[in-house]
Amino acid sequence: QPPLKESKVDVLIVGAGPAGYMAALWLARLGINTKFIDKRSTKIFTGQADGLQPRVLEVFETFGFVDRALKEVAVGYEACFYEPHPETGRIRRVDKIPEGVPGISRFNGSVIHQGRIETWLSDAIEEFSGGKIAVERPFLPESLEIGGDEEYPVKVVLRKLPDDKAGPEQFGHKVQNGLYRQFEGDQNQQNGVDSQEDSLEVVRAKYVLGCDGAHSWVRKQLGIEHKGETTDYVWGVLDIVPVTDFPDIRKRCSIHSKDGGSIMVIPRENGIVRLYIQLREGAQHEDQDPVTPIISAAGEKEKPGKKGVRVDRTKLTAEHILATAQNIFQPYSLEVAEMHWFTAYQIGQRVATSFQKDERVFIAGDACHTHSPKAGQGMNVSMMDTFNLAWKVAYVVKGLARPSILSTYESERRAVAEELIAYDQRLSRLFSSKPGEIATEEFRAVIDRGSAFTTGCTVDYASSLLMDKPADAAAERYASPLATGLAIGMRLPDAKMIMQSDARPWFLNQRLLSTGQFRLLIFMGDYASVPALRAQMDGIGAFLAEPANSLQKLRDDGVLQTLLIHASRQDKVEWDDFPAVFRPRDERGVMDYWLVMADSGPSWHDDKTGEAYEKYGISKDVGAVVVLRPDGYVAKVAEPTVDGVKDIWKWLGRFVVGLESGATL
Ligand code: FAD
Repeated sequence: QPPLKESKVDVLIVGAGPAGYMAALWLARLGINTKFIDKRSTKIFTGQADGLQPRVLEVFETFGFVDRALKEVAVGYEACFYEPHPETGRIRRVDKIPEGVPGISRFNGSVIHQGRIETWLSDAIEEFSGGKIAVERPFLPESLEIGGDEEYPVKVVLRKLPDDKAGPEQFGHKVQNGLYRQFEGDQNQQNGVDSQEDSLEVVRAKYVLGCDGAHSWVRKQLGIEHKGETTDYVWGVLDIVPVTDFPDIRKRCSIHSKDGGSIMVIPRENGIVRLYIQLREGAQHEDQDPVTPIISAAGEKEKPGKKGVRVDRTKLTAEHILATAQNIFQPYSLEVAEMHWFTAYQIGQRVATSFQKDERVFIAGDACHTHSPKAGQGMNVSMMDTFNLAWKVAYVVKGLARPSILSTYESERRAVAEELIAYDQRLSRLFSSKPGEIATEEFRAVIDRGSAFTTGCTVDYASSLLMDKPADAAAERYASPLATGLAIGMRLPDAKMIMQSDARPWFLNQRLLSTGQFRLLIFMGDYASVPALRAQMDGIGAFLAEPANSLQKLRDDGVLQTLLIHASRQDKVEWDDFPAVFRPRDERGVMDYWLVMADSGPSWHDDKTGEAYEKYGISKDVGAVVVLRPDGYVAKVAEPTVDGVKDIWKWLGRFVVGLESGATL
């Protein structure tokens, strides 16, 4: 036997869905040697997940491609509720509300199919990595072992499949569908893979990220359980261009009919509308796969609660799902001009018992949590999992941070997964119940409470090595008295201010790109009017500039960026007021003009600038230093003095390598 081909990589990503793509994006951005594989021979082109929450759009902006999304997506502004009339039984609109939470983000919840989103991610990965990172497919992992080699302790054997063996079945349907995503020869099938031994190769990795979906092979190799319940609620999905007299077809609608079930209407890009259609009532049992699409033979209903039911998925047709939808829509008509995709799925709500093994192999996305797609969260939460994880892995791979930071991935993301499952359980029960079983008010109250959560902007990470807040503040919003409007643990809310150098208005977050840096936002208040603040600003500037100061080293390593945000009149103060450290020059003498901003009221061309201090609860007479993590979450607040900066330095020293607390203070 010739020896197998072997390669060494820093990170191996298994699975190119939203979670895998986001991981690859961060790793590409931070220059990490990454191998990225998927078992399927092609990416997806239609269907699947479609909702983009505001927080994910904010994250896309930090990677520089949100404009691609904004050009193409359908944006949600208004939502309607339909219920049966008590006398006629015909559905009619009972309420209209804003879609999402007005003002929570610059972006509104948007909708487009997963294939487009994966294309933007893929293009950005190519650009950041100079073409070095791209999905290699079809590759099926065969074994995974941890241990042995100290530097590259994870050994994975991969099998290259022939392209024609790795396409998902379409069951002879003309219309693309997501009924079944596995293929013959897949591990989840009985009959094994028919390919040559020489198609095997060994990858040795420092870290492996299992982003391989609900049936995660990586999760199974680690012996991690996926705990929870599978219900008998069966829903169909149609992506169509409709022909209808339903007046609210271009708004998100929740429709409860009298006897026919429920529908959720989601307007999409290019005139498409997605319909989620209830196909079967529910009961709960625990012994089925979580999100295997289960298909009811046309018209036929299994008894709820029957265990281990496997229905013949080849019998489900788009026509059957459409007929159910037409029945619920009455008295409105519903015909189809174009049918793009369909599927059916059974609702399961599960969370993995652990998200990692030995802090060397991690799982993310659907591999960690599965739930119904109705809240539009699957893809979003999956991307945010690896947005949380991958920069931490990159820091450790580069030797910039201690491996102890990796434990914060599970502590931070498990809480989000559990909140999501709890919300999804409430939502699924309400959607699948009949009118009369639950009050309309109760239904809307759940949607209302959930809409903040589903924007993704309310995630609040608990106290940890990377979050400087009291341990007992975990359950409630915690803010420093120096910045009462900023919750430590939450992402930085946006505010518009003025660039000092050229007077251009900017939203602060537009300047805070995902570069992998921690950031000190030094809010120096109205330094021009408060002499003590000017002295403090000069003191911080001098301290940051000391060559012996290891903060300087952090800046050189690309770990830290310092920005100054003052509240004096932008047009009344002078550029030379600011310490040189905020106006650095490169080796050619060219100055960086983009590190000083003013939050000093309306600007020449924009009356919305100048609200940051108020929004963040920072006094213009006192100021504050806000520490942001590379993923944009507020991690610590300190006073704007040399002592405050030293306090931050000590805190960074808990996890940043070479900054042991106070070593060079
Ligand atoms: P996935 O998107 O599942 O990606 C996993 C990737 O890993 C796939 O590319 C797969 O080919 C690959 N893979 C799997 N096993 C291996 C292996 N052993 N080796 C190598 N590669 C592997 N969500 C919504 O919000 N709305 C919807 O309408 C919706 N519809 C859905 C319909 C279907 C049929 C499915 C399956 C899911 C749907 N979802 C929907 C859920 C949403 O797509 C997921 O939550 C989201 O895609 C999860 O992202 P992920 O990256 O964790 O996993």
